Amino acid sequence: MIIGILKEIAGEKRVAMLPDQAGILAKSGVEVWVEAGAGAASFATDEQYQAKGIKVTTSADIFSNATVLLSFNPLPETAYTAVRSNTVLVGVYQPLFNISLAQQIAHRGLSLFSLDMIPRTTRAQVMDVLSSQANIAGYKAVLKAADLLPHYFPMFMTAAGSIAPAKVLVLGAGVAGLQAIATAKRLGAVVEVSDTRPAVKEEVMSLGAKFIEVEGAADASKAGGYAVEQSEEFKQKQLARLSESVAKSDVIIATAQLQGKKAPVLITDAMLQLMKPGSVVIDLAASTGGNIEGTVNNDIVVKHGITIVGNSSLAADMPADASKVYGKNIFNFLQLIIDKNGELVLNFEDELVKGCCITHAGEIVHGRIKELIK
Ligand code: NAD
Repeated sequence: MIIGILKEIAGEKRVAMLPDQAGILAKSGVEVWVEAGAGAASFATDEQYQAKGIKVTTSADIFSNATVLLSFNPLPETAYTAVRSNTVLVGVYQPLFNISLAQQIAHRGLSLFSLDMIPRTTRAQVMDVLSSQANIAGYKAVLKAADLLPHYFPMFMTAAGSIAPAKVLVLGAGVAGLQAIATAKRLGAVVEVSDTRPAVKEEVMSLGAKFIEVEGAADASKAGGYAVEQSEEFKQKQLARLSESVAKSDVIIATAQLQGKKAPVLITDAMLQLMKPGSVVIDLAASTGGNIEGTVNNDIVVKHGITIVGNSSLAADMPADASKVYGKNIFNFLQLIIDKNGELVLNFEDELVKGCCITHAGEIVHGRIKELIK
């Protein structure tokens, strides 16, 4: 069986699997092919793939021969008709936001495993692409903010006067938020955090940050690790409490998300005006609308003197490590669908295989996507 690693769409610097990981995969009874130049933006050369026993070839060659196609982003439109029917696609297809693409893939008879949909169980942690990429995004968000802020992050006592530490407000203490807290603390900032899941309070405090208490959040204990929508009353209480922290903050790192839905708006335009000019906001929820009123996805805007960075794919700005951890996630997932002889075995009794399978045998098979089509 041939597994193909494809070159990503223009602008994407990550690659689905780097040479070292591809070499390990190639030793497990499968052949691995890579599209020429696929790793270039992640600083992996065709020669490095070849040295690991990987064949470097064209996308057309891969489309006509591979059983499994690996990518980060969905394949370009033209690819779905170029591949063999029954081909297995593995990547981040975000089907909750991309239903027509899922329908097109089903119609072509392809099996799609979208790793962003994998259930968030302990066993799935090693293949959780949202976590591996969010960890990088949280780290990069703080570095970007520090770069743009016209102040120091750490406190300094110098002969030329003393500098107060930067105050950072982190919205959402999931994977990205927790990494943002840790990074901001390492740089010497004072950090406050808001999250609707009380369960994260201890983690936040153990990182040395202050947790902003707002009573009355909706119970998210049965939402598989994700947050749930809040009542109007809670939202108003949270905004009022957040206003106090916003007014003191030099930096806001916004990461609050609701799976498959528009992100909650946590900073209104009026609240933004409470910040000092020169302050910086990094909105990692930009692709789903953003946590800040006025965020523009994939752009940087300046409002009331505040720089708002709307970047929801900051992990791609660190392509070498982002590709390394993504490739490991994919490798771990492939262990579930490839047997010891290197043959494809789709076991839908396995909750992880079933949980991220979006299309199979000409149908949309994922329950949640089927609901959205009704
Ligand atoms: P996410 O990206 O979906 O959301 C980010 C954070 O925003 C979450 O902590 C959420 O509670 C918070 N949030 C949502 N609405 C908010 C609001 N109105 N105000 C303030 N905060 C709000 O989350 P994530 O990073 O993907 O992870 C969430 C949790 O899932 C983790 O903390 C963890 O418990 C769990 N998880 C489990 C696994 C696994 O077991 N495989 C993997 C990753 C994460």
